[in-house]
Amino acid sequence: MSQLDFEIAIIGAGVVGLALASRLSEKHSSIVVLEKNQKYGMETSSRNSEVIHAGIYYEPGSLKARLCVEGREELYTLCRKHDIPHSQITKIINARTEAELPQLEEIFNNGTRNGVDLRMLNARETQALEPNISTCGSIFSPSTGIISAHGLMDHFFHHALSKEATVQHNCEVVGIDQSSGGYVITLNESGSTSTITVEKIVNSAGLFSDQIAAIAGINIDAAGYRLHYCKGSYFSVSPSKGKLLNRLVYPVPTKDSLGVHALLDLGERLKFGPDVEYLSTNELDYSVSDAKRSLFLASIQNILPTVHDEDIAPDMSGIRPKLQTKGGLAHDFVIAHEEERGLKGFVNLIGIESPGLTASPAIARYVEGLLFA
Ligand SMILES: Cc1cc2nc3c(=O)[nH]c(=O)nc-3n(C[C@H](O)[C@H](O)[C@H](O)COP(=O)(O)OP(=O)(O)OC[C@H]3O[C@@H](n4cnc5c(N)ncnc54)[C@H](O)[C@@H]3O)c2cc1C
Repeated sequence: MSQLDFEIAIIGAGVVGLALASRLSEKHSSIVVLEKNQKYGMETSSRNSEVIHAGIYYEPGSLKARLCVEGREELYTLCRKHDIPHSQITKIINARTEAELPQLEEIFNNGTRNGVDLRMLNARETQALEPNISTCGSIFSPSTGIISAHGLMDHFFHHALSKEATVQHNCEVVGIDQSSGGYVITLNESGSTSTITVEKIVNSAGLFSDQIAAIAGINIDAAGYRLHYCKGSYFSVSPSKGKLLNRLVYPVPTKDSLGVHALLDLGERLKFGPDVEYLSTNELDYSVSDAKRSLFLASIQNILPTVHDEDIAPDMSGIRPKLQTKGGLAHDFVIAHEEERGLKGFVNLIGIESPGLTASPAIARYVEGLLFA
């Protein structure tokens, strides 16, 4: 084999790409992360709820369930060890009506099968935790928390650099060709084109991961890898009403989402979201329309009846890279070594929506296992 520039290229410096770089650089000295933006973490990894999910809702046995539960524990350990801002704030899933109680029980059973520590609370016990909500009972999740996504990415980034990994910003992958012993990657750096050679590739390009798979020669429709962009917007609540909750409060979920829920961030700001809006084109449109105000207000008042129109304002949004079509069936993460498609040493990560932030350290371990099985 001729001399390669790097052993492993990771495409995308979001939280997953950085978690991978941090992990793989422990044992491998020749790693490059290729990122098209001017800094890491400028897309989905900085546009999310920053919740450390417990792993309650995912189908038992799925990658989402397994990697969320494992990743959550790894995150808490990392946070404590490296002072990454976080709080194990806990969460409740609240049934507002008697009619929602059977669904609550199903969620409880599902979460328990995933190995999540949960407790059923009656209305009185729930009210003792959250006096300002209207409730018929809830599930209490003690292991749910919140984290600074930037703090986590900063940690992964600096750890990877300290272990000799290279992170190249402003560096868009525009071509992938096989060569003897690996791959030639074509890069666009501020308008000028160059190539590097690598032995292995991990496609961790988030919203563009299907396009990277296509560039590598995979028919993404036949493979079921085409992504559908699904925006999630948030509205914030004015500080005067920001202290009405003590923890995260979720409604009983719908088929497509966890439902607009109450989030507290590390600065104790209260936000509600994200809603579910499939975009008609795969464009990065992060605007939050004030036209959603009345729908948001209805969801917010379902949880906190004393919040009024004048207390809320459009906030931020993020875009989910969904394999699930609008109204279609839920999908698991795709994390696949594409050897059978003739791409030895090429791992695709596609559809890494929630709980990708929580699962990031566990995804990194899983990918390492695929690359070096
Ligand atoms: C609204 C919303 C709320 C969420 N809430 C939570 C939550 O509370 N908890 C949780 O665990 N998860 C949550 N998630 C999911 C979580 O944010 C994602 O799973 C995670 O951030 C995915 O990280 P990533 O590194 O795969 O992708 P990204 O962060 O999208 O990173 C991919 C990177 O690849 C780069 N890239 C793309 N194409 C190229 C190219 N051709 N060349 C070079 N670089 C390229 C991009 O610029 C980008 O930086 C949420 C997601 C959304 C949208």
